[in-house]
Amino acid sequence: MAQITNSMPTAEMQALDAAHHMHPFTHGADLGKKGARIITRADGVWLTDSEGHRILDGMAGLWCVNVGYGRQELVDAATRQMSELPFYNTFFQTSHLPAIKLAERLAQLAPGDLNHVFFAGSGSEANDTNLRMVRTYWELKGQPSKKAVISRWNAYHGSSVGSGSLGGMKGMHAQGGMPIPDIHHIDQPNWWAEGGDMSPEEFGLARARLLEEKILELGPENVAAFIAEPVQGAGGVIIPPETYWPEISRILKEYGILLIADEVICGFGRTGNWFGSQTMGIEPDIMTIAKGLSSGYLPIGGSIVSSEIAQVIGDAEFNHGYTYSGHPVAAAVALENLRILDEDGIVDAVRDRTGPYLQKKFKGLTEHPLVGEATIVGMMGSIALTPDKDSRAAFEAESGTVGYICRERCFANDLVMRHVGDRMIISPPLVISEAEIDTLIERAWTSLDECHAELKRQGLMKAARAA
Ligand SMILES: *Cc1c(COP(=O)(O)O)cnc(C)c1O
Repeated sequence: MAQITNSMPTAEMQALDAAHHMHPFTHGADLGKKGARIITRADGVWLTDSEGHRILDGMAGLWCVNVGYGRQELVDAATRQMSELPFYNTFFQTSHLPAIKLAERLAQLAPGDLNHVFFAGSGSEANDTNLRMVRTYWELKGQPSKKAVISRWNAYHGSSVGSGSLGGMKGMHAQGGMPIPDIHHIDQPNWWAEGGDMSPEEFGLARARLLEEKILELGPENVAAFIAEPVQGAGGVIIPPETYWPEISRILKEYGILLIADEVICGFGRTGNWFGSQTMGIEPDIMTIAKGLSSGYLPIGGSIVSSEIAQVIGDAEFNHGYTYSGHPVAAAVALENLRILDEDGIVDAVRDRTGPYLQKKFKGLTEHPLVGEATIVGMMGSIALTPDKDSRAAFEAESGTVGYICRERCFANDLVMRHVGDRMIISPPLVISEAEIDTLIERAWTSLDECHAELKRQGLMKAARAA
């Protein structure tokens, strides 16, 4: 029997990895020279690599392992479902209990009249569904000209051609012919980097009003929807000023435009509520879900859709679906994951206990000489590295140079923290304890010290001149 073991020597695994494995979002040649860090086991918030290091996972994998690693209940749910019914589809008028129960549970948890679920295998797939669904909705309503979708620069909505076009990552758009037509981007509410002399409140309003300008430029009769993450995740954990979302909501209502809230990161407790839309006080027509839905134990995503849209779409045939829409094993695991989040009080802890504890400690990082701002909601946070706090200056070195150095120091100190440009971000498993939060902050502080020393050594503590 073929068996995968973790007993192969690290160098051998790295050589094979470099020889045959193409990595997502990775410079292949650079990785080949250095060799990947190989993760072999994980438990709670702790990863173990092939050299036996215990690493604190400050990113919950890729923002997804909300209940932490090593939950036997999820293994058991998968095992049970796999022996009973490992696969059946949900096309052509068939169904199965895991998909039915999961849809019911999501309808209970989701706010307002978001009562219907279309399943996908990932967040990217779900956003592709959303793009087709909102256009189909308006077509069925007799307004076929409503095709345009407005999004934001530096948004992340996935990596397929549709979802990558909805996203606002210029580096992604530069490869492979994106964005596709009829998708438009406005500037993001990133006050630290782009707010200039405005107060955060003024800036939030100004950035929200870009939506109104764009709608008027395109003509409201041509705009189907606005898509946004309640809090941008992969863009660097950008928490919008308080004035932003209320103004966006007003504009969408006024012009009759649908809101797709991409909850792939914000959902399932990350912000201290079941959904980021609740934390930000917004009322979407569709929510995109994935990641924390199954805590990453199996791939599953979907769209939670309002009764109005579901009814209009349901009155026709929606020529759309994925082989693995509502996959029974993934659905069974997701359902069990939702039970754990609920019954273990994990969402409550993020709101009332460990969440506030992490927030207080994390904000303390602003006392470090390299750290300009530290912002955090629930358990997603970011710090802006800067050579000059008062002017909120960027570094003279190309964006990401300093962030990369800091991330490497974190790695060396057995802490996973990611960098987005020169912002450092965290999104730990939601089960992280107070003692583990202390360790996270200590390791972050040490890494910042080492990064600071390295920047001085390399002469990189220089501010870019104002543009
Ligand atoms: C990760 C992510 C996606 C894409 O999900 P995949 O499962 O990687 O396809 C979409 N939206 C947001 C906000 C994400 O963070």
